[in-house]
Amino acid sequence: MVRDDCIFCKIANGVIPAAALYEDDDFKVILDAGPASKGHALILPKQHYQDLCELDEAVGTRVLGLAAKLGKAMKSGLGCAGFNLVQNNGEAAGQTVKHFHMHIIPRYEGGPEMVAWKPGSVDPEEAEQIVEEVTARM
Ligand code: 5GP
Ligand code: ZN
Repeated sequence: MVRDDCIFCKIANGVIPAAALYEDDDFKVILDAGPASKGHALILPKQHYQDLCELDEAVGTRVLGLAAKLGKAMKSGLGCAGFNLVQNNGEAAGQTVKHFHMHIIPRYEGGPEMVAWKPGSVDPEEAEQIVEEVTARM
């Protein structure tokens, strides 16, 4: 399904033009309009899936391979020292566009810095409870 009220459906399917780093029958990879670093890209499926939980499994199995291909090309083409994959699901997690996308964010020696989480702690009882609650629903 493609939604005509979805900006990423429009971009992925060429309704709104965008320079593509990669394109095939199922995906378009574009540059992020508000890049966290030079070359920050987004992998967009051409079909509309709101987030990872909705993503078709067959489409989903291709995402990591594509990210690796892009990441390697960024390292040799842009000279980044590494890259992060970021994929937000739900507003609470920072998702602003409700069409599944994977960020590929090149990381360069010397920055820019990115926010990292502050490690907390978990006690064994809580860990046990988490395992029970999650595994019971899988
Ligand atoms: P999210 O926060 O949902 O994980 O990420 C959405 C990303 O899409 C943001 O990094 C934002 O800069 C980018 N973005 C939003 N609208 C557009 C657009 O129209 N074109 C492009 N190329 N990127 C967009
Ligand atoms: Zn969409």
